[in-house]
Amino acid sequence: RAFQDLPLSPAVLENLQRLGYEQMTPIQAASLPLALAGKDLIAQAKTGSGKTAAFALPLLANLNPRHFAVQSLVLCPTRELAEQVTQEIRRLARAEENIKIITLCGGATMRPQLASLAHGAHVVVGTPGRILDHLARASLALDALNTLVLDEADRMLDMGFADDIATVIGHCPKQRQTLLFSATYPDDVMKLASRYLREPQEVKL
Ligand code: AMP
Repeated sequence: RAFQDLPLSPAVLENLQRLGYEQMTPIQAASLPLALAGKDLIAQAKTGSGKTAAFALPLLANLNPRHFAVQSLVLCPTRELAEQVTQEIRRLARAEENIKIITLCGGATMRPQLASLAHGAHVVVGTPGRILDHLARASLALDALNTLVLDEADRMLDMGFADDIATVIGHCPKQRQTLLFSATYPDDVMKLASRYLREPQEVKL
């Protein structure tokens, strides 16, 4: 299936073409029509499936670049994944000027993160513990958030992030779109979904 069938702007479609994205991957074909219609999603996807674009295009579609506030948050289990996700969102965001995307992970020094936040960001990608640190010291505010992504939710729960995730979500507006991606669906993932997603559509491949 072609990206052209989706409600995406000509600039975004042109950028996808430039990136060499011609056909949607199966996870993109199943997720994007629902996510771009504003639905919450539980999607089964592994790394390499094109899952990043499946949540990045919807979060970018929800974003107002002229509003200098954090409007999307992507929670990831590890720094490596967070950096990969940031890179992919940056490539997809090239269609629009001036979209600022920052990575906030543990193990990195605080000072550059505080400086980036002070400059303003539209999209934050990070690990739950460090996101929580920033919320606690009020260097990060999520009251303008409209899209929350839980990437590799099963891995985040395996790593013991359940409480941190719950606290971070407590800082997010109730009115938002939530997209949960997970390779597996154990009970704790389903519990997370039932607690924090609204009438989620399930995408299983
Ligand atoms: P991901 O699973 O999100 O880590 O993506 C895996 C790789 O596939 C990344 O290098 C993407 O840039 C690339 N990719 C994602 N979607 C497409 C697509 N529709 N066509 C071609 N490449 C893609």
